[in-house]
Parts: sequence; structure tokens; C-alpha cells
Amino acid sequence: MNTSSYPVAGQSLDKTPDIDFRSDTVTKPSTAMRQFMSEAAVGDDVYGEDPSINALQLKVATLLNKEAALFVPSGTMSNLLALMSHCQRGEEIIIGDQYHICSHEAGGASVLGSIVMQSINTSAKGYITAGQVAAAIRPDDAHFAKSKLVCLENTVSGFVQPQAELEAITILARENNLKVHMDGARLMHAAIKTDCSPADLCKNVDSVSLCLSKGLGAPAGSVLSGSSSFIAGASRLRKMLGGGMRQAGILAAAGIYALDNNVQRLQQDHQLAYYFATELNKIAPLSVDLASVETNMLFVNFPLAQGKTAEQSLAKFLINSGICLGDTAPCRIVVHLDISRQDVDKTLAAITEYYRER
Ligand SMILES: *Cc1c(COP(=O)(O)O)cnc(C)c1O
Repeated sequence: MNTSSYPVAGQSLDKTPDIDFRSDTVTKPSTAMRQFMSEAAVGDDVYGEDPSINALQLKVATLLNKEAALFVPSGTMSNLLALMSHCQRGEEIIIGDQYHICSHEAGGASVLGSIVMQSINTSAKGYITAGQVAAAIRPDDAHFAKSKLVCLENTVSGFVQPQAELEAITILARENNLKVHMDGARLMHAAIKTDCSPADLCKNVDSVSLCLSKGLGAPAGSVLSGSSSFIAGASRLRKMLGGGMRQAGILAAAGIYALDNNVQRLQQDHQLAYYFATELNKIAPLSVDLASVETNMLFVNFPLAQGKTAEQSLAKFLINSGICLGDTAPCRIVVHLDISRQDVDKTLAAITEYYRER
């Protein structure tokens, strides 16, 4: 999906909207999560002595069937650590042009890691193919940066990536001596949607980044996993980049709580997103391709209602009722654990009102 629907810098609102569809990052830790956090055992994690962080890392490594894992402040840092661990200066990654690392991480891999990004076209549903990757691998020639890593993402804009293609890409990568990193910010959404274990979804990749703050309800944190030697390298880089936290077990506890309590319920978000799309289709002049609503996101074009000016967009109309949509076209709507069926129904009623002929 060729769109930038992320909240734009400088667009922050004066007050938190009651119903916020901009992203699944807007969730607030629940009372039960806060309670669990407050009881977390902690220690100095730079010394490796925070029991809650160690427990989270073991939990994620086990969940993804990797040797080791590392708790980090954000998904962006997790991806950066992975790229810097896999690649030396001047080495090249092959990546979909719409993938977060390529388009939404401020070029960090290049700025901080001196890594070259070769972007290839992603399809409307976020796919890249083994054929595209094969064509992008550089021959061993002094004119070229050295191909080193393939970067995958799952889900991409809410789309689950086809497992057969991902496997074809990992086989191709292995044959060509390339490593594979998966940005699995929303890997759990893909696992729930396909009813596959998350370990199966990342079986042949060398490293995986999982976000705890994308729809799982934790206030912060991502976990990078891979081989023990890879994680040892990433841990050193984490310290270098200023991501060595101390008694952050309070945050890790939120991640443990999220994985124990908020994964199965993603199913409800997916159903609610689909319901939202179905109902939007009943409001003229809207139309949503239901086949494109796979997990918790939908993309909708909201034209101006008849006779309205640009200043009277739907987003501006809704914000008066405490409902926040990103003001981009198409608009990305994200359903998450702080959105209820009542919230969706209230929003549908307000959208109907906006388009009602006067
Ligand atoms: C949000 C996101 C990230 C980055 O996570 P932050 O915690 O916001 O740094 C990486 N990849 C994908 C696909 C994301 O959606």
C-alpha cells in the first residue's frame, strides 16, 4: 500500500481523543498491566541482572524458537541493531521499498550503520518475491556494495505475507550466503490470522524483531531474537547506541503481561476491523475492498462531503466528537485493544452524519 498514514510530526493533538484509530501504538497500559508492572522484580540489566527482562527474553526466544533474545526500547532500535549486527560498513541490504526500515526509520541503517539500502518494489499487499531478490543480488565486483542481508516484514500494512514466498526467499538467501532479518513488529497478528505458530512464521530467518507496543498493549519495548552469537553482538551495539537500560524490568513485565494476555484477543481486533469495513461500505460514497482487510488495518478514501471545503474534512469533523482518524489519503484505520464495538458503532454513526445530504 503506497501510503504514509503514520501520524505526522507536529500533528500532535491538544488532548487525547477518546477513540483513536491512527495506530495501534496509542493503547494505554490497563490497570491489570500496571499492577503487574508494579510488582516486577528488577535489577541492573546492563549487568544482566534484571530478572523480569531475563524472563521476557527467554519467553520470546522460546516463542520464536531462537537461541536468544534482547529487550530493547523500540522497534526502530531493534531493527537497527539487527542490521548493524549482520552488516559491516558498505555492505548492502535488499529490502521492500515500503518496509518500515526503508521508509520510516529516518535512514538510520545508512546514517548510523553505513549500510547501503537497495530497495525493491513491494506489491500492493506488501509482497516481495524471490525473483526480485535474486535479480537484486550484486555480483562480486568492486563497483558494487556487497549484498549481505535480505529484510522481510510481516505483517505489512496489515497484510499477512505469503509463507511460501517467504520460504523461497530464505532458501535463495542461504544459497547466496545472505542472512535474513524479519521485521515482525506485528508478527503476532500474522500468527493469529493464519493460525500458525510464530516460530513457524520465522522458521528460516536469522533474526526477528517483535514489537510489544503494537496492539499488544505494552507502553514500550521490542524484542530482537536470533542466535546466541548474534544477540551477543546486538547487546554490545545496544549499549553503544544508548539503549542499555537499568531497572527496566518494569517495562519488560508489561511485555510479559502483553504476551500472556493480549495475543489471542487480536482475533477480536481483526473481526472488528472487518466489521468496520463492511459497515463503511454501506455508507455512500464510501467503498472498502473487503479482501484487503486481513488483520487490524483498513485503508479508506474519505472524499469531502458534497459542498464541503478542504477545511471541512471528515477527520476535522470527527475530532469534535473525540474521534481521531489520520488525515491522509487513503486513511489508515487501525483497530486495537482500546477500540470497542461501541467505539466503532459511534464512529460509523458520526461518519454517516458527515455524509448525510443536507
Ligand atoms: C512501528 C514499527 C516499527 C518501529 O517500532 P517503534 O517502536 O515505533 O520504533 C518497525 N517496523 C514496523 C513494521 C512497524 O510498524
